[in-house]
Amino acid sequence: MKKRIVLLGPPASGKGTQADRISAAYSIPHVSTGALLRSECEKDTPLGREADEWTSKGLLVPDDLVVRIVTRWMDEHGPSFIFDGFPRTVGQAVYLDVALQELNLPLDLIVLLELPESEIRRRVSDRLSCTKCGATFGATLHGLSLGDACPRCASPLVRRNDDNSEALDRRLEVYTNQTEPVVDYYEKNSPKLLSRINAVHGSDEVFGSLVRILGDA
Ligand code: ADP
Repeated sequence: MKKRIVLLGPPASGKGTQADRISAAYSIPHVSTGALLRSECEKDTPLGREADEWTSKGLLVPDDLVVRIVTRWMDEHGPSFIFDGFPRTVGQAVYLDVALQELNLPLDLIVLLELPESEIRRRVSDRLSCTKCGATFGATLHGLSLGDACPRCASPLVRRNDDNSEALDRRLEVYTNQTEPVVDYYEKNSPKLLSRINAVHGSDEVFGSLVRILGDA
């Protein structure tokens, strides 16, 4: 069974949703660096305040800060994981390879969720998020409005501080310049581990593709 998984993909490609579904179906812990950073921010910790300076502008948080929270997470949670939103730079990918090599726990699978820009923009402008449990919802699909109770935990739904068109432009630029090279890195160094899925399909269909990939020995 594959139990060390990296999900890559642009904003709103469904990484969080699919990571949650894999986590529930296969009992593998899901870690979203974006959610970890938002939680630090909510708790108003020094790390959260520093991260907010970058996230609110749609920029990546510096590698050393992200590596600190990922290292802490791995120390607390052990050897299996689904990373969503990490690694996002080649520096982070190299850090992860080295850290896993030291632990003798190699990655089992890297999945790239691919989505065209028009669909990314549509999804982000329609997205509502829960700051408490981290769930996200398409407002139109779920018939939800700003301030409604989160269907999962009943906290009020908000628009994320980076789900506006200015920050999204920046996030797309950052994705092209800093995260697409991570895909090239894995293509070069671990081509057998990398799978691509067309994320324009509905959540069930994308999950079905993931289950097939996860089932392959
Ligand atoms: P999305 O996938 O929609 O961009 P995330 O929740 O994954 O949303 O990330 C939100 C923000 O958190 C990013 O725009 C970035 O500022 C920060 N962030 C998340 N993960 C990382 C990471 N691995 N490295 C640097 N910054 C990160």
